[in-house]
Amino acid sequence: MSDFSSLGLSDWLIQQCKQMGISKPTQVQENCMPPILEGRDCMGCAKTGSGKTAAFVLPVLQKLSEDPYGIFCLVLTPTRELAYQIAEQFRVLGKPMGLRDCIIVGGMDMITQALELSKKPHVVVATPGRLADHIRSSDTFSIKKIQFLILDEADRLLEQGCTDFTKDLEVILAAVPAKRQTLLFSATLTDTLQELKGIAMNRPFFWESKSEVRTVEELDQRYILTPEKVKDAYLVHLIQKFQDEHDDWSIMIFTNTCKNCQILTMMMQKFNFPTISLHSMMKQKQRFANLAKFKSSVFKILIATDVASRGLDIPTVQVVINHNTPGLPKIYIHRVGRTARAGRHGVSITLVTQYDIHLVHSIEGQIQAKLKEYPVEEKEVLKILTQVNVARRECEIKLESTDFDEKKEINKRKQMILEGKDPDVEAKRKAELEKIRSEKRKFKERIQETIQKKQHGMQKKLMKQKHIQKKKAEKST
Ligand code: AMP
Repeated sequence: MSDFSSLGLSDWLIQQCKQMGISKPTQVQENCMPPILEGRDCMGCAKTGSGKTAAFVLPVLQKLSEDPYGIFCLVLTPTRELAYQIAEQFRVLGKPMGLRDCIIVGGMDMITQALELSKKPHVVVATPGRLADHIRSSDTFSIKKIQFLILDEADRLLEQGCTDFTKDLEVILAAVPAKRQTLLFSATLTDTLQELKGIAMNRPFFWESKSEVRTVEELDQRYILTPEKVKDAYLVHLIQKFQDEHDDWSIMIFTNTCKNCQILTMMMQKFNFPTISLHSMMKQKQRFANLAKFKSSVFKILIATDVASRGLDIPTVQVVINHNTPGLPKIYIHRVGRTARAGRHGVSITLVTQYDIHLVHSIEGQIQAKLKEYPVEEKEVLKILTQVNVARRECEIKLESTDFDEKKEINKRKQMILEGKDPDVEAKRKAELEKIRSEKRKFKERIQETIQKKQHGMQKKLMKQKHIQKKKAEKST
């Protein structure tokens, strides 16, 4: 294996890697960095957790340090959390050169972002929707001179899933120069390869991890066959077991919907497991706060939808549990890739019902490996079955009572977006208005109180005077 200097990396970056505990390049770095440094476009398909981010961050920083200007590099990524994670790697590795970065994601204040963009940061890391909004609404910044366009989790950006980025990408691609270096990275590139080749025009260098198996060897991949109704009991049993045996372990649980995510979180909290959730119906600040609490091990269990399945680098996750069997093998690959990262060991356990067996077969086909059964004492699971199912029902009822407000809030936010308003800015404005109104109300009440007191005092005085007059009159008669 080569070292960083033989790949053409500058000494200051090698030093900076050392400071981060990175001494040898990983495969994706070894293969993709030289062509990037040569100025070629690059498509890298490597397992999640294999050091993909540094494979593009390092060459970009090297080129930037030779001719620093802003905006030099634009990175697009599908989720807000990933944008923060990538920006962090740029910031840490680029510290010696005084790198200025800027994160442009939805759910945060647009005016502050516009101001930051106008200051010409070296690197912009963005989710497509919000960046496209800025391009449409502002002329205070330009990405016309960028040297690098990077699409991280490129296949997700290009596929038409639940969030369709196509329109936003069109806006962004029209705003970047044709002469640029384009880098595309993902753990699962193959599906959209042709489209990707269209974006990377400049003789793209294509590199794919040699291994047949698309998941890492350090990952112990297991399944549990369970009837649908017993799934939650298995989950509670597993969590209890891991908590008893390894109280320092962190566990990620993936489920299919935001509602399920919420219900499972409430259930786990009922069983006193330190659980927190992450899904797209949560406010952005809450999402970041919850992720930070999980990363710092304040909470050991994170229940998430697939918003957290890609790319998130949380070194301490030992177990991934799939509460539902993913419908697509690549979603499975991304989910289980949250553990066994950077050479560490990890376990993944997928709960499989009788209806999901064909899904397991297609996962096994794709990862070129067989999932093994995870041994569980069924008796122990059945003991808690009723208690768990009652807990679920209670949580469902509790959630239903709040669901209405939640949906209403979401619809309101959607409507605002359609009207071209930023829901968060509007919410802030509304809160400020409410504060002013409440202060006015309090002021009015205070005045009325004072008036009433005065009136009361005057009445008392009058009564007293009348009483004195009456006494005087009685005396004179
Ligand atoms: P990524 O695949 O970019 O999400 O990276 C996963 C983790 O690997 C991150 O925590 C990186 O800091 C770490 N990493 C990146 N490059 C290396 C390397 N050459 N040696 C060891 N760890 C690395």
